[in-house]
Amino acid sequence: MADAWQAMGKILPEGRMAGGCVRDLLLGRAVHDLDIAVPLPPEVVMARAAKGEMRTVPTGLDHGTVTVLVTTASGTVPVEVTTLRRDVETDGRHAVVAWTDDWREDAARRDFTINALYADYEGQVSDYFGGLEDLRAGRVRFVGVAKTRIQEDALRMMRFFRFTARYGQQVDQEGLEVIRELAPLASTLSAERVAAELLRLLAGPERNLQTILEHMVSTGILDSWLGQQRPQAVPGTLGGALNKALEVPGLGAHESGPTLLRLAAFAPDGQAGAQLKLSRKAQNFLQALQVPLPQAQSTAVVRPALAERGLAAVVGRAVLEQWPLVALEALAVEPVPTFTLTGRDGLAHGLAAGPELGQALKACRQWWLNHDCQPSMEACRAWLAEQAGAGRFST
Ligand code: ATP
Ligand code: MG
Repeated sequence: MADAWQAMGKILPEGRMAGGCVRDLLLGRAVHDLDIAVPLPPEVVMARAAKGEMRTVPTGLDHGTVTVLVTTASGTVPVEVTTLRRDVETDGRHAVVAWTDDWREDAARRDFTINALYADYEGQVSDYFGGLEDLRAGRVRFVGVAKTRIQEDALRMMRFFRFTARYGQQVDQEGLEVIRELAPLASTLSAERVAAELLRLLAGPERNLQTILEHMVSTGILDSWLGQQRPQAVPGTLGGALNKALEVPGLGAHESGPTLLRLAAFAPDGQAGAQLKLSRKAQNFLQALQVPLPQAQSTAVVRPALAERGLAAVVGRAVLEQWPLVALEALAVEPVPTFTLTGRDGLAHGLAAGPELGQALKACRQWWLNHDCQPSMEACRAWLAEQAGAGRFST
């Protein structure tokens, strides 16, 4: 990251690091994206990059954003370079922007004071709206008049809670009151934007997550997305083995097993995935978490259920119902036993092909599940032979 920053200084010395990366650097937190703001139009940024032999991707030219691919010792780092902007017009969902070379104007259109900081190549910080002081005090405060800023873009209500969860010492009462008043505007947002913010909030490790979610619910901003649900207990950070057990391949951006698990706990009526237009995989996963399981906490019950319904769904359910996590951690890392008898085994024991055979195998599988998946294949064969011999499957 530091290498990429230095390299950018060579081609765009008039640029400044902007937004989240400045905030996180000042707090000594890990910085995952490098965003640079420049008082130059995108064409100039692309020309400078070309001259410096760096590749560019026109990721959002309409918004003035060019991604510059910087080669460093540790690989290629994508750096987002955005032209300074000022708002010309906003309708609550889309903004029409114009380029500017005025840093303060660019800062004025950012959402919160702590997100409106810049740092130049000398490490000099520019703070136009008191962001440094708010950062120190753990205050998430809108730049300008909260009401106007939310009317310009209602997503800022969701972002208010996400950043409060991460950086807030307490919830800013003024912001909260305005959000209460403007909550119905949340219904006009696109599902994709709401989902991204909500999932990013749910993905966080913050201990105050539950409190923040309760505040969100109390304002009503989620009503049109998740129904008028009551705040439910959301599982906290899971252990390594549980996280592993909840790995779901093929999920979309911001989606992950543990995040979806929290969503399922928070909005248990099963509609959230469709409402938020999550990926098909995520929706299936949320559906699987709805499968009711016996309340029993013994491994004798959980284990066959694991085998039967797939690991992730069961672990998820177990966490929701607050089964003892320690026991589950042990379970989650064990391979799940599978039932391997086939039709051929049935035929070998004198059963006729057809519905009878299917029923016999199903019964055998149930018997195996009832015995905690312990019986070996031989034992299952023996049971099948015994039952078939006694005529239990004949129609
Ligand atoms: P994170 O570490 O979670 O990515 P971030 O501050 O980088 O935090 P982003 O959503 O990536 O947050 O946005 C980058 C910056 O763009 C913000 O810091 C903020 O200055 C500005 N920004 C993003 N979305 C909005 C918005 N809806 N309204 C105003 N400013 C915004
Ligand atoms: Mg970011």
